[in-house]
Amino acid sequence: MGFSTDAVHAGQTPEPRTGAVITPLFQTSTYAQKGPGEHTGYEYGRTQNPTREALEQNIAALESGKYGFAFASGMAAINTVAQLLKAGDHVIATENVYGGTYRFFTKIMEKFGLRLSWVDTSDLEAVRTAWRPETRMVFVETPTNPMLVLSDIEQIARLARERDALLVVDNTFLSPYFQRPLELGADLVLHSTTKYLNGHSDVVGGIVVTRREDLAERLAFLQNAAGGVPSPFDCWLVLRATKTLALRMRAHAENALRIAQYLHDHPKVERVLYPHLPSHPQHELALRQQKTPYGDSGSGGMVTFFVPDFATAQHVMRRLKLFIVAESLGGVESLACHPASMTHASVPPEMRAKIGITDGLIRLSVGVEDVDDLIADLDQALRE
Ligand SMILES: *Cc1c(COP(=O)(O)O)cnc(C)c1O
Repeated sequence: MGFSTDAVHAGQTPEPRTGAVITPLFQTSTYAQKGPGEHTGYEYGRTQNPTREALEQNIAALESGKYGFAFASGMAAINTVAQLLKAGDHVIATENVYGGTYRFFTKIMEKFGLRLSWVDTSDLEAVRTAWRPETRMVFVETPTNPMLVLSDIEQIARLARERDALLVVDNTFLSPYFQRPLELGADLVLHSTTKYLNGHSDVVGGIVVTRREDLAERLAFLQNAAGGVPSPFDCWLVLRATKTLALRMRAHAENALRIAQYLHDHPKVERVLYPHLPSHPQHELALRQQKTPYGDSGSGGMVTFFVPDFATAQHVMRRLKLFIVAESLGGVESLACHPASMTHASVPPEMRAKIGITDGLIRLSVGVEDVDDLIADLDQALRE
């Protein structure tokens, strides 16, 4: 089936008793047994829930996978993936990953004996150089936040396969509509469903998808044993949202490209980062890797741009009316973020400079509003 057909139908059939077209919300913690040990396959809410299963199968289909595992947050998904490893194992991870991922690995997992190398995974040679005999996982985020640096999933997958390590890709920024890492050779793909998959800024959630039965067995065990599961209601909400994923992603990308072009031509803007602008240093890779299931390519809704200094950035942020100043991304409403004073304020200025996060950097999560209204808002904000 095509992507949009799967988005609407995968994992879902009309409810057998009433014919309800929409998967019911099974808001229950336990299930009646006919006799002791004589159950329907559903015993306890942490272990099994039909609404959660529908969501897991739905997103697994969209990611070209076979097995999905839903979690209470993106971080709970990442936590569970890390538990596939053991003390002494070494992980090569994209430097400049999502801040929460960095915090999780350095402040928690290293305490349990996991070893981390933070590497510019856009440079294949750097990945090769960082390799150790005990390397068991490569953790890649592409594109990164907020610099939109891309890593070549196919090349890294080849390297990981040769050397018997797992390749994990955090696909939150593009969603499966614009990038399907399992098709490119990754072993696991994960998301903060909080972002594009739910897309309506009303759920915090996560998911992990794989094609491999051996990994699925271990993840099912961990999901139940470690217990970071989502509520049935949150699963129901995300399932409602994935139905329109293709429609939303097309609208996000169309608006974002128009805005990136507008900013690119604006005299007050020093630089724009958007992988589908020809000026992006990895434009070529974006065209090749970030493909919809229909063969065209796109870069989703995230646009980063630079104004000359802190004062200008503050001025622009304060004047925005339609763009809401907030953290997070991927919702239908447009958001603006100034990392130096918001998401990355706790990162020391020298470190921010090393990553490229200047005081004049503004990150947009472009929503699905009328693009002319969004451009008019930016236009008035960029005026004196
Ligand atoms: C938000 C985000 C996460 C963390 O997800 P939560 O749902 O907030 O726990 C992980 N990776 C990326 C790329 C994100 O944007």
